[in-house]
Amino acid sequence: MSSTVAALAGVVGDGRLLEAGSVADRVTSFWNSAPMQAKALVLPATTDDVSGILRHCNASGQSVLTQGGLTNCVSAVEPNLDDIVLSTEKMTGILEIDEIGGTAVVEAGAILQNVQEAVADEGFCFPLDLGARGSCTIGGNVATNAGGINVLRYGMMRNLVLGLEVVMADGTVLSSMNRMLKNNAGYDLKQLFIGSEGTLGVVTRAVLRLFPKPAGRQDALVAMNSIDDVVRLLGRLQRQLAGNLSAFEIMWGNYYHAVTGENGHRPPLPRDYPFYVVFQAEGSDPTADEARFEDVLGDALEDGLIADAVIPKSAAETRAIWEIRENFEPALVKPPFYLYDVSLPIRDMSAYVEAVENNVSRLWADGLCIALGHMADGNLHFFVAPCEDGDHHEASDACVYEPLRQYGGSVSAEHGIGIEKLSWLPHSRTSAEIELMRSLKRSLDPNNILNPGRVISV
Ligand SMILES: Cc1cc2nc3c(=O)[nH]c(=O)nc-3n(C[C@H](O)[C@H](O)[C@H](O)COP(=O)(O)OP(=O)(O)OC[C@H]3O[C@@H](n4cnc5c(N)ncnc54)[C@H](O)[C@@H]3O)c2cc1C
Repeated sequence: MSSTVAALAGVVGDGRLLEAGSVADRVTSFWNSAPMQAKALVLPATTDDVSGILRHCNASGQSVLTQGGLTNCVSAVEPNLDDIVLSTEKMTGILEIDEIGGTAVVEAGAILQNVQEAVADEGFCFPLDLGARGSCTIGGNVATNAGGINVLRYGMMRNLVLGLEVVMADGTVLSSMNRMLKNNAGYDLKQLFIGSEGTLGVVTRAVLRLFPKPAGRQDALVAMNSIDDVVRLLGRLQRQLAGNLSAFEIMWGNYYHAVTGENGHRPPLPRDYPFYVVFQAEGSDPTADEARFEDVLGDALEDGLIADAVIPKSAAETRAIWEIRENFEPALVKPPFYLYDVSLPIRDMSAYVEAVENNVSRLWADGLCIALGHMADGNLHFFVAPCEDGDHHEASDACVYEPLRQYGGSVSAEHGIGIEKLSWLPHSRTSAEIELMRSLKRSLDPNNILNPGRVISV
């Protein structure tokens, strides 16, 4: 056992440090089921533990990779043999729910779905929601500035965090546990850490902003004939549902086709339309809201804006239409496949997707490019499958990212940069921006121990 590992065992105590051999009993990440490899894995239970771990690692220049729920999509949580892994899985407490202020204080390792359910029991809603809700953690959500399906109404994680406790690289505990909506006393330091992907500090606790639990919810899955119609529908729903629209998710026809049918989900609508949208509204008056929702949908059908529609009549049917959007596994039958997460102005989406499709088919005769996304946020996801053996990642990246530049788009809407997109950061950020990021990293983590090699090279 190296002296650093021995010192860390002393900090966290019995059973809270796994040496290299035992780390291999764990999988690497959601996307990579290979055995994990690392020098050791530590399981702090308190902020003091995290502080002690970082103090020791900083003193010896030891790299530390922080892990939450391992659902990251940009290869950021995959350690190498020299890393100490710091997992927040023992820090899962939901410490306080303030029913008057509408806030919750939670530890970084709390699973998102557990937080959603705990606050719902008290009549509140924590509106961050994503397909990985059952595994991802609040610390991971903060570190990636997670988005998901309700951004349209409630914003990203950045808008949902009021305060943070963060342990800095040298072990200093920065308590910025603000509970108020307004606090202009100097710089808003928490924002520095939100979206920094664990490169500037380790998040240990967060104060979350809660909202009243909606009294009712309406959902629909619709089929549409053109992307122009999809854009018009989005505008119409935003105007006519009086602010109740909370999710609006687009699926290109080839995605819907790939995830439904014999080996996938049961298709509630025929499988040959060019576009599908699943959307959701939430409000305080279920009877009136439902009537308005059905009227708006009926008008859109009558006008020919929507080609076909289904409104689920039970919780199980609602879950089933959302599964089509969230459970994409049936589409991923031909590895390798590459996942993308870009953003660009909604008006340019159609031309952009066409450009990516052309790029993919020029390179690979059977190549697939299936698109879906949080359209109202200008956020598209692609799965590119070359349908040829071998490593085509670089070529696939170029197919997706090169056409983005002309629209002023971003190579990451919500998943972050991690390792995978490091070389593409200059595509979306100016050199002055990158230099400022670099000097922040150097100043807050001078020994480059926190998630080295992620987001920015120093
Ligand atoms: C099926 C599926 C659907 C998804 N849908 C969405 C979506 O709709 N929107 C979206 O934004 N993302 C989505 N994601 C991506 C992912 O779920 C999010 O990025 C999530 O926020 C990661 O949380 P995690 O706890 O799994 O973090 P991890 O994957 O463990 O870590 C993510 C990053 O955060 C860092 N980190 C983790 N915990 C901490 C901490 N306490 N302090 C500092 N750094 C930390 C890690 O080092 C790493 O860089 C999806 C992923 C999957 C698998």
